[in-house]
Amino acid sequence: MRNLCVILADQLNQEIASLNDFDKDLDEILICELNRNFSDINHHKKKIVYQIACMRHFGMELDRLGFKINYLKLDNPDNENSYTSEIMKLIDNKGIDKVIVTEPSTYDEMESIQHWQKTIETDVEIRKNDLFFCGIDEFEAWAEGRKELRLEFFYRMLRRKHNVLMNGDHPEGGAWNFDKKNRKPIAKKISIPKTYTCIIDKETRDVINLVNREFSDHFGSTDNFVFAVTRDDALEALNRFIEERLVNFGDYQDAMTSRDPWLFHSHLSMYLNNGLLQPEECIELAEKVFYESKAPINSVEGFIRQILGWREYVRGVYWLKMPDYRDLNELAAEVPLPSFYWDAKTKMNCLKISIENTRDNAYAHHIQRLMVLGNFALLAGIRPGELNEWFLSVYADAYEWVELPNVSGMALFADGGIMASKPYASSGAYINRMSDYCKDCRFDVKEKIGIEACPFNYLYWNFLDKNRERLSSNPRLGLAYRNLNNMPDAQLDSINESALNFFKSIES
Ligand SMILES: Cc1cc2nc3c(=O)[nH]c(=O)nc-3n(C[C@H](O)[C@H](O)[C@H](O)COP(=O)(O)OP(=O)(O)OC[C@H]3O[C@@H](n4cnc5c(N)ncnc54)[C@H](O)[C@@H]3O)c2cc1C
Ligand code: SF4
Repeated sequence: MRNLCVILADQLNQEIASLNDFDKDLDEILICELNRNFSDINHHKKKIVYQIACMRHFGMELDRLGFKINYLKLDNPDNENSYTSEIMKLIDNKGIDKVIVTEPSTYDEMESIQHWQKTIETDVEIRKNDLFFCGIDEFEAWAEGRKELRLEFFYRMLRRKHNVLMNGDHPEGGAWNFDKKNRKPIAKKISIPKTYTCIIDKETRDVINLVNREFSDHFGSTDNFVFAVTRDDALEALNRFIEERLVNFGDYQDAMTSRDPWLFHSHLSMYLNNGLLQPEECIELAEKVFYESKAPINSVEGFIRQILGWREYVRGVYWLKMPDYRDLNELAAEVPLPSFYWDAKTKMNCLKISIENTRDNAYAHHIQRLMVLGNFALLAGIRPGELNEWFLSVYADAYEWVELPNVSGMALFADGGIMASKPYASSGAYINRMSDYCKDCRFDVKEKIGIEACPFNYLYWNFLDKNRERLSSNPRLGLAYRNLNNMPDAQLDSINESALNFFKSIES
C-alpha cells in the first residue's frame, strides 16, 4: 500500500500528522509552490521570500533524510499550480493507493481539499493538525452553550489540561494573568538586544532573485531579509529570545519606541505559523527558565498566554465562526483604506513609524498592530474587508486563520464582541503613555480639537458618538459614555467638525 503525503506550505515539520506512519521505502511526498498562494493579494516581498525559502529548505531536509519527495518549484514549467493535477500525475506514474494530508489552516483550503475526493478516485485521508494544542472539535466543545467566548477561561482550561505553569491546582505565582505587569513604557537607558538575523545561503538568494523578478510590483522589498528559513535556525532564534529577551518581555510587552521595531518580543510567529517551531517547545523552554529563576513570572506567563492562550483561541474562534466571520461589519464601517497604509505618507508619527516598520521588516509588534494601526482603523471606520486584506498582505506571519480574528475581532470589533468584550478604542493619550512617538509628531497629543490636535483624540469621541446606538449599552464603556453625555454640545460639535475635516483631508 503506497501513500502520497501532501505537505502544505505551512506544515513544514517532520512531526506533522500526515508523516506519522511514513514508510521511506514505499511512500511519496508532494510539496508544491502554488502561484496563487503568493499572487492572490499584494503580499510583502519578504513574506513571499520567507514562505518559499522555508518550503525549499524543508524539501531539501526531507530529501537528505531519505524521504521520496516530489517538489514542484514555482518556476518549474511542469508546475500546473494545482494540487489535484499534481496528485493525479503521481497516481498515474507511481501507483499511489491513498493520499494523506493534514488539516489545512484555512477554511478555503479545507473546502478545496474536501473537493479532492470528487476529482481523485484514490482515497483521501485528512488528518487532524497536531501543530496546535487545541483541536477544532475541542474548541467547539468548549464553546458549546457559552454566552461569551472569553480568552481568560479558555486559557485557564488549557493551562490546567496541559499542566503549564501550574503549582498543583493553582497557577504559578498566585495568579492566572499578570497582564497589569506588562505595561511599562521603555526608558531611553534600556538597551534592546538585536533580533536574530539569518545567514543568506544560495537557496535563499535564489528565492530572493525569483521574488524580485516575479513579484517586483509587490509591497516592500527583499533587502535585509533576516528570518530563519530552516528548523535549526528557527530553534536558534527561539533560544536567542529565551536567553536575551524573555526576561524583559513582560515589562515591555505593550511598549513602543521609534528606536527599535523589534523590542523584547519573540519574533517567532512566522516560525510557529508554518511549522518550523512547535508551540509546545516554545512554552517548555519559557517554563524551564522560570523554574531556573532566570525570567520573572510576568514575562513567562505573558509569553505563554500569547501562545497557549491567544494563538489557540483565535484559531478556535476562526473555525467556529467561518465562513460568515469574514463578512462581519458590526459597526457598518465604510471608509476606504487610506493610501498611507501602503506608502507611509502621513504626518501622524505613530502611524508613519508603524507602517515604515511594517514595510521594512514584514513585521510590527502586537501593540503597533492593535493600538496604532488597528485603533486608527477602528476610530476612522475603515472597511473591515480592506483592512483585513492589508494585514494579510504585509506581515510574514499572516495567514487568514490568525489574521482575520485579530483584525475583525480584536482590532475592529466588526464581530460585535465575539472576541473582545469592548472595542479597543483609545485616544492619543495611550500612544503617548506607551511610546516616544508623540514628541516628534506634527500633531499635539494634548490638544483635543482643531488642526493642531492629535487626530486620535477627536476621532475617539467622534467614534463613540457615531456608534452610540450600538455601543452605549456596553457596560465596559459606561464611563466613556457618561463622559460623552456630560460633554457640552458645542464641544461635541467641534469634535465632530474636526473629525469631518480630517476625513476630507485623508480623502484628498
Ligand atoms: C490587528 C492584528 C493583526 C494580527 N495579525 C496576525 C497575523 O497575521 N499572524 C499572527 O501570527 N499574529 C497576528 N497578530 C497577533 C500578534 O500581533 C502577532 O502574533 C505578534 O505580533 C507576532 O510577533 P511576535 O512573534 O514577536 O509575538 P510575541 O509578542 O513575542 O508573542 C509570542 C507569540 O504569541 C502568539 N501571539 C501573540 N498574540 C497573538 C494573537 N493576538 N493572536 C495569535 N497569536 C498571538 C504569536 O505566535 C507570537 O509569536 C495580529 C494582531 C493584531 C492586533
Ligand atoms: S500625537 Fe497623535 S498622531 Fe501624533 S504620534 Fe501621538 S498619537 Fe500619533
